[in-house]
Amino acid sequence: SQVPLLPLNHGPSLPRLGLGVYQVPPERTAEVVRTALEAGYRSVDTAAVYGNERGVGEAVRSSGIPRAELHVTTKLWNTDQGPDSARTAFEASLARLGLDYVDLYLIHWPVPALDRYVETWRTLEKLRADGRVKAIGVSNFQVPHLRRLIEETGTVPAVNQIELHPYLQQARLRAFHAEHGIATQAWSPLGQGLLLDDPVITELAGKHGRTPAQVMLRWNLQLGNAVVAKSADPGRLRENLAAFDFDLPAEDLALIATLHSDTRTGPRPDTFTG
Ligand code: NAD
Repeated sequence: SQVPLLPLNHGPSLPRLGLGVYQVPPERTAEVVRTALEAGYRSVDTAAVYGNERGVGEAVRSSGIPRAELHVTTKLWNTDQGPDSARTAFEASLARLGLDYVDLYLIHWPVPALDRYVETWRTLEKLRADGRVKAIGVSNFQVPHLRRLIEETGTVPAVNQIELHPYLQQARLRAFHAEHGIATQAWSPLGQGLLLDDPVITELAGKHGRTPAQVMLRWNLQLGNAVVAKSADPGRLRENLAAFDFDLPAEDLALIATLHSDTRTGPRPDTFTG
């Protein structure tokens, strides 16, 4: 089964489900990515700060899958924001991956207190013009940060990767993204596993003969988002891929909409500095 693609406002289309490798130990990363690619994944989400880009690159390069059929995302860490440091950090990421280009390069967090995300964005524009990255985007940006990037540079991010699950539904950001043609990519779509026992989710899972993880992924996909989920387990990797072969009816989507409680599992983007 093939993972459906989400077209972006520039660059290669983004697979709607990707493997996230946050907290996958460096020495296990190549094996986990290889397992995911064998299961049918075509997209991997890493970051300089995850410390496992080498393993991602190793698995991608040895997969036997044509590079053009794979989608690799990595991210610029907070302390590397700034025109020169961003370029140096990017070159180091690319060298660790051992690739000629990355499909998507993201500013990992806005770090508003640093006030460097606009100048950093201009460096990403240059990397894109050089063909070293096919698409540029951001992560954890709030509406004011997105507005400022667009107003000051005219370049609309292809993607904003944000925490998004039934307890944190991000209605305001999703509306802004829709208005400006920014793709929403959800991180921690399972709330880092914390939502797997939610009674509404487990009830819907029972009703559809699916697992709670599949219900949450399906809900996210039906909002129109791409998602990155993490598992190192072959069975769960396949289970998560099977979120594409069923539909949640409108009444079930409406029920999940009531679960929003504005609860984050991760840091607050306005204040997080790393
Ligand atoms: P997640 O919501 O994907 O949950 C992962 C947890 O759920 C793990 O403990 C995993 O074992 C478990 N799990 C996965 N599939 C399951 C299944 N089918 N059944 C039962 N349990 C299952 O959380 P995450 O890892 O925090 O987020 C996913 C990815 O998002 C990360 O790997 C990373 O790539 C990305 N991410 C990005 C940011 C960012 O700032 N941009 C922050 C956090 C995560």
